[in-house]
Amino acid sequence: MTESARKDQFDALVVGGGIAGLQSALDLADQGFSVGVLEKDASIGGKMIRLSKVFPTLDCASCITTPKMAAAAHHENITIFTDCDLKSLDRTDNELIAQVVQRPRYVDSAKCIGCRQCEYGCPVYVPDEEEGGFTLRKAVYIPFSNAIPQVATLDVEHCSLCGKCAKVCPTDAVDYFQQPRALTLTATTAVMATGFRLTPIHQKKEYGQGGVPNVITSLQMERLLAPHGPYQRVLRPSDGKEPESIAYVQCAGSRDKSLGISYCSRVCCMYAIKQAMLLSGSLPLADITIYYMDIRAFGKGYEQFFQNAKAMGIEFVKGKIASIAPATEQKVALKYEAQEEDGRLATREHDLVVLSLGIVPDWNPAGTCSLATGDDAFIRCSMPQIAPTLTNMAGVFVAGVAAGPKDIVDTITEAGAAAMEAANYLKSRSATKAA
Ligand SMILES: Cc1cc2nc3c(=O)[nH]c(=O)nc-3n(C[C@H](O)[C@H](O)[C@H](O)COP(=O)(O)OP(=O)(O)OC[C@H]3O[C@@H](n4cnc5c(N)ncnc54)[C@H](O)[C@@H]3O)c2cc1C
Repeated sequence: MTESARKDQFDALVVGGGIAGLQSALDLADQGFSVGVLEKDASIGGKMIRLSKVFPTLDCASCITTPKMAAAAHHENITIFTDCDLKSLDRTDNELIAQVVQRPRYVDSAKCIGCRQCEYGCPVYVPDEEEGGFTLRKAVYIPFSNAIPQVATLDVEHCSLCGKCAKVCPTDAVDYFQQPRALTLTATTAVMATGFRLTPIHQKKEYGQGGVPNVITSLQMERLLAPHGPYQRVLRPSDGKEPESIAYVQCAGSRDKSLGISYCSRVCCMYAIKQAMLLSGSLPLADITIYYMDIRAFGKGYEQFFQNAKAMGIEFVKGKIASIAPATEQKVALKYEAQEEDGRLATREHDLVVLSLGIVPDWNPAGTCSLATGDDAFIRCSMPQIAPTLTNMAGVFVAGVAAGPKDIVDTITEAGAAAMEAANYLKSRSATKAA
């Protein structure tokens, strides 16, 4: 650990504890630099820990993400701050100063042993967003089974203040009076790895604005496919029926000027193909159809992956979906332009429809720091061709989907590059100081 390593003073600050942030943090920490990782959620891991399996290898996402999360959490040079809101990030001549507010968990993380007694004792049930809203959790809970840290968190909005969690906690960790904590963290360099969220489902009127039963998002399907997911099998949410016919609507939130999102989100073709393959494994008799505008299988081995899906019997229909509406027997009616036939408008019904929603940035730097964003609202790279992790702020680098949509392979590569730029920056600063 370098001299600057104190609990509030680091060589590098990493904002975002998804796979990009964790990779950058590990690469810097392994070189001896002290790193503070700032995460807004109650656990690190980002979207990747919430996926089922990953294209193109179909490795279990949780099995390959958990070791990285644990490596970061146990690294002597890394300090992780969860539940944090970054209020400002300013540069002085020598350092970056981050003003942060850490939201209360209402559970003392130094005392909590992750035994879940509070969760078992809590009488309040709440829809579990971690499981796509398909199942329930308690008002006091550990976010998910392999969350890091394994510390319970109390959802004050739903807590009935019955006191049962505090009574059953063997270490007296529940603290109803915990207050937000203001932190001032300083560092010489920073990597912004704030990732993405999906295009809001309610934005498109033609697609039912989230109100058509049995129309779900691609991230919800990831949970249905996960071995430890809400039902442990794929069932239709409205009535628990095993779907016999499943459809994917591609470009449901990208390449769509009416939503202000004209770019391609790059991963949707591949994740839809992946999910379709996984579905044909778990529901061998189901018909699976992917409605697409173009298939973009851009990465190494991806075209073969697409061809394998076709060989497995997954149907690819070229046509933009014009509208989505409820049909009889809780089915969903898709109206589309049959481009490979005579271009006429056709309608087909499916038991379950998955929207391949687009990818938009999870964080907007405006009002927090002077980082510039591009027309697409992602953090702008100042030298995209030759140094794609450089931003307009000196000593601040960007990695992963924070800079624009990309898959895990490219995210990891970029996170390594950002760590290398940050390490070079740290070395050049210490050389300047020594001179
Ligand atoms: C449905 C779906 C399936 C996919 N399947 C695959 C696949 O099979 N294979 C593949 O290669 N890719 C896949 N991807 C893409 C993959 O999810 C991304 O490449 C990867 O998650 C990007 O990681 P990231 O760390 O950049 O972003 P994220 O995973 O979004 O992580 C960002 C982290 O930053 C945190 N954060 C955000 N703002 C702040 C802030 N202001 N302060 C502190 N923390 C903040 C977030 O809470 C989050 O933890 C899929 C994507 C989707 C939507």
